[in-house]
Amino acid sequence: MSPGRESISRDRVWRALALLLAAVVAIGLYHAVSGVRPGAGGEPYTARTGVMNTDARVLIVPGPRMSVTPEEAAGRAFAALREVERLMNPYDPESDLARINNAPAGTLVPVDPLTWGVLQEAMRFHRLSGGAFDVTVGPLIRAWRERPDGALPAPGAVRDALAKVGSDRILFEREGMRLGLPGEGMRIDLGAIAKGFGVDRARAALEAAGVRDALIEVGGEVWLMGEVPLETPVTQSIGGESPSGEGADSGEGAPARTRPWRTGIRHPRAAEVIETLERTDCAVATSGDYARGFVVDGVRYSHIYEPRTGRALSGGVVSATVISPASCLEADALATAVSVLGLEEGRRLLALFPGVEAILFIEEADGLRRVHLRPPRTPEDLAAGADDTEEQFPVVVEEPNP
Ligand code: AMP
Ligand code: MG
Repeated sequence: MSPGRESISRDRVWRALALLLAAVVAIGLYHAVSGVRPGAGGEPYTARTGVMNTDARVLIVPGPRMSVTPEEAAGRAFAALREVERLMNPYDPESDLARINNAPAGTLVPVDPLTWGVLQEAMRFHRLSGGAFDVTVGPLIRAWRERPDGALPAPGAVRDALAKVGSDRILFEREGMRLGLPGEGMRIDLGAIAKGFGVDRARAALEAAGVRDALIEVGGEVWLMGEVPLETPVTQSIGGESPSGEGADSGEGAPARTRPWRTGIRHPRAAEVIETLERTDCAVATSGDYARGFVVDGVRYSHIYEPRTGRALSGGVVSATVISPASCLEADALATAVSVLGLEEGRRLLALFPGVEAILFIEEADGLRRVHLRPPRTPEDLAAGADDTEEQFPVVVEEPNP
């Protein structure tokens, strides 16, 4: 080999090394600037517990800003949920909720600021929904639960219960942070909002511990925090993904190392996922008539009540999934409210909440109709009517399960 050749090939080696170095620096810079970073390599840390009468779960992607171990962070999230349970569990006589419900009519009971805040929010949703969202449905729940076997409750029983319903009658005393109910037999039930609130509290606990990327799920209500490493093995599941199965592909351009979390919406008439959402930094809540409903004479009734008539919902919006960038309490309350209001009034309610999106399944004679209500993005989108889509979902409704 001549000296000239040797220097050319050495040149090539140096040039290749320089290129390699530049590439390494560029990738490092890209990660630093974009916040995209290699995943933790494998499954996020996962923890489960039973709380608020349901199952709760957190998936935590370990990150550089965490001040504690994932175990400790998960423990703090669960402690936040237990705190909500302690205050709002109607079956615990020591809870704020039970003390309000069990106090003699007209008695004001001092409550925790968290309980106070949730009731204030409940009032806001009551007003904005025109009364469709009403946490004083307690007497209706009881009347329908105590219906005769295989029959609807007697009209008189529903009428009596309805006379004890009305959020506008809840007594609030701001100074002492005291709450009360003015009528005998009135009862507050936070089933439509407490899980969402719990999820928000768990999220706040994770954020305080420096967690950026996590999924929190309590009985189907979800917070999707940040993203998940691309190589995370997952399968679809209702109310958030669970480890196992395959990752996703990165698409075009620079190699993305993370992807949005996935969460499944349950088919309202079959035990399977009907649709998978991929989202980042938002809460997702679903109200469905399959959850705790019942069937009388072949007609399915929901566990959600129309507080203005006293009837359990039947048909209409049989599944409402609400996606909120603000809070899971908001998503939870709106999902329940939209189930009561139906498509047109529900659409008007949702429009009051910036960035809120919804996917509704409406039962019709020949199947389910899927309606996707998207938040308006740009004036052009709006002008083009590109905010919402509606389609006939090609699924024939199955016989309801008793
Ligand atoms: P969700 O599954 O979040 O829609 O909540 C339903 C639960 O909220 C029911 O099991 C009742 O405890 C309660 N609930 C029923 N109907 C209403 C209503 N119209 N407004 C507020 N809460 C309700
Ligand atoms: Mg709800």
